[in-house]
Amino acid sequence: MPIDLRSDTVTLPTPAMRKAMAEAEVGDDVYGEDPTVNRLEEESARLTGKEAGLFVASGTMGNLASLLAHATRGQEVILGDEAHIFHYEAGSASALGGLVYHTVPTRPDGTLPLEAIEGAIRPVGADYYHNASAGVICLENTHNRCGGTILRPDYCAAVAVIASRHGLPIHMDGARIFNASVALGRPVTDWTRHVTSMQFCLSKGLAAPAGSLIVGDASFVDRARRVRKMLGGGMRQVGVLAATGLVALREMVDRLAEDHANAKILAEGLAGMPGVSIDPAAVETNIVIFRLPDADRAAAFRASATREGVLLSVVGGGRLRAVTHYGITAGDCRAALDAMRRAAQG
Ligand SMILES: *Cc1c(COP(=O)(O)O)cnc(C)c1O
Repeated sequence: MPIDLRSDTVTLPTPAMRKAMAEAEVGDDVYGEDPTVNRLEEESARLTGKEAGLFVASGTMGNLASLLAHATRGQEVILGDEAHIFHYEAGSASALGGLVYHTVPTRPDGTLPLEAIEGAIRPVGADYYHNASAGVICLENTHNRCGGTILRPDYCAAVAVIASRHGLPIHMDGARIFNASVALGRPVTDWTRHVTSMQFCLSKGLAAPAGSLIVGDASFVDRARRVRKMLGGGMRQVGVLAATGLVALREMVDRLAEDHANAKILAEGLAGMPGVSIDPAAVETNIVIFRLPDADRAAAFRASATREGVLLSVVGGGRLRAVTHYGITAGDCRAALDAMRRAAQG
């Protein structure tokens, strides 16, 4: 069996999840009658300090439904040039919603410079009818392409000041918000209080087989529910999946600390390898991004790691990614380092 460090999406459902699926009480969720989905949505709202929650098929659907609930055709989504929404969601908000992506530079820690956010908000009014208007600001936490870095609550508060000055909503792509919460030992509400809406994934480190939640105020969630229907995301007796989400939220959050400790083991081991650049101090959660001198050598490193039984993913620009998750032990990480050391030698 290879040691699969491509992503935390490869996690398999736990025995408790399998049992919960078999026993889930279900109904037709499009009629609002699936008690397990309703429970998951209520529990998610409570946990994040928001009025309401909505269960969606994926993180991509959660982000898309949120953006389309916040903004209308021709409006801009202000987001970082390293954002998952910009890189990996098939241009969905533009293709399906007529929104315009307005990117600003991303710092290595995943933050966007405040002045760049403010500068991206174009003036509106009679003199500016030729401008596209800003519709929503997006933040990502933890930041995937920046190596699982954590946006600090203080930073989010500063973005919220700008957003409120311009009357704009903030959507947080919080695919891995629980990693941030566990790593800093702070409740998720320390972040959600500063944003209008958030999407988080059940199917990454929390190990559920599928699904994400959107949270926000009740009128936002009503609009997002309508968009979800448009996207074909209205599901029926989907309590069998929601049941795994409840297990994820109740049993799988605290153990993320193990993934963070294992990521440190990987980062420290990689730091000593020839040709590999990485700053282990910058690894805050479960994503380890390291650099080889160029894209060809990164591809060669990845191919030899694969032959040695370690699966990695490509970030681009000579960077490779290893992600720790449920099912990967500290011993696996040490074995992976041995294999990668052999790979580094060619
Ligand atoms: C995984 C991920 C998503 C969306 O994931 P799906 O694969 O659509 O479930 C969104 N944002 C970030 C930062 C992610 O890592």
